[in-house]
Amino acid sequence: MPTITVTADRVWAADGQGVYHNAFVQYDGDMITRIGKQADLSQADTSVEMTALGDVTLMPGLINCHCHLTLSSSPNLLADYFGMSDELFMALAIKHAKEALMAGVTTLRDCGTKNNIVFAVRKAHEIGLIDAPRIWASGACLTSTGGHCYFFGVEVDNETEIKRAVRAQVKAGADFIKVMATGGGITPGTNPRREQFSEAEMVALVNDAHRLGKRVSAHCHGTPGVRNATAARVDTIEHCSFMVDEPPGLKYEPDVVAQIAERGIYVIPTTSTGYRMLEQVLRGDIPRTPQYEGFLANQQTRMENIGRLVTQGVRIASGSDAGVTGTYFGDFALDLELLVTTAAGFTPESALYTATATAADALGRTDIGVLAPGKKADMIAVRGNPLEDIHALRKIEMVMQGGKKYVG
Ligand SMILES: [Zn+2]
Repeated sequence: MPTITVTADRVWAADGQGVYHNAFVQYDGDMITRIGKQADLSQADTSVEMTALGDVTLMPGLINCHCHLTLSSSPNLLADYFGMSDELFMALAIKHAKEALMAGVTTLRDCGTKNNIVFAVRKAHEIGLIDAPRIWASGACLTSTGGHCYFFGVEVDNETEIKRAVRAQVKAGADFIKVMATGGGITPGTNPRREQFSEAEMVALVNDAHRLGKRVSAHCHGTPGVRNATAARVDTIEHCSFMVDEPPGLKYEPDVVAQIAERGIYVIPTTSTGYRMLEQVLRGDIPRTPQYEGFLANQQTRMENIGRLVTQGVRIASGSDAGVTGTYFGDFALDLELLVTTAAGFTPESALYTATATAADALGRTDIGVLAPGKKADMIAVRGNPLEDIHALRKIEMVMQGGKKYVG
């Protein structure tokens, strides 16, 4: 295939070098071959196919590290879920995947969707049937009987069942293993503040997944679950809310966080989860229920805690929990905006890393997340400069995945 050159006024490669001005990226097929300054382009470079994007910032495609393709984002989440057939789940998953791609998400990590749906969506994308991000999927999550998200989970209650489920998920095609280490807000009858598995059970799960070369992602709201997941050396902790029973609320645990940092565990705080719902509550469009009151009361603390994680050296990757109530697949930019505009206190550039290079590291993928020779040609161009104004991420001018343009 011929080499194609894309030029832009600004290229941000997520390579630790800041912004390259008047720069270019060359790719051949689905692979980046060269990146540099336009002044260094030769006659031979400019005589072949070339796209001049002008006043945009060219950067790696976004990686949304936490999604659920078959959840409806609506307030009636569970009623929607239980009312759908597998055929409808497939239609919904394809719609969501396309919405994410159009908003610049070129890789989507799905943290819990029935195996037959999500592995088929992944395959449909790989063979070119649908426009979608690259899908990195756990398939069914591991949970306790009646536990968080049991309706797309494998229910397991002891070490033998856990190991069998890990092996079955890998056999079915899981890219990683997802475990619900605590209860969760959307599943009635579970307790988000308490653990679903003992430390020994978590260790058995992680050891078996790692033996098979698969990473482990643990959903953790309550502090006991964060402790067990950290002790077991999971690879990513989702939410990491430090919820406690007494007094009800959030209680940050610096000692546990020191261990998370020391063990190199990534935290995916799902910063924007439910935020659109919160906006509607604040506007008075939705009545204030005790659940929303609790959410509102904790919001400031959640954002401060994300900032404290960074101060203690924890690597943060972005994931929106798209699919849960008030969280939309085309709205991933909100996750990065909130990191910058709230007490989380990120610079725009540090926020961009959470959805590019650091996100790829969290997934254990060396082929995406950075614009550099040998990486996949997954790029987006946005009007303006997101390093000065993070809201520029909304002004999508081009979306390219594996050298194929979907927008622009
Ligand atoms: Zn989730």
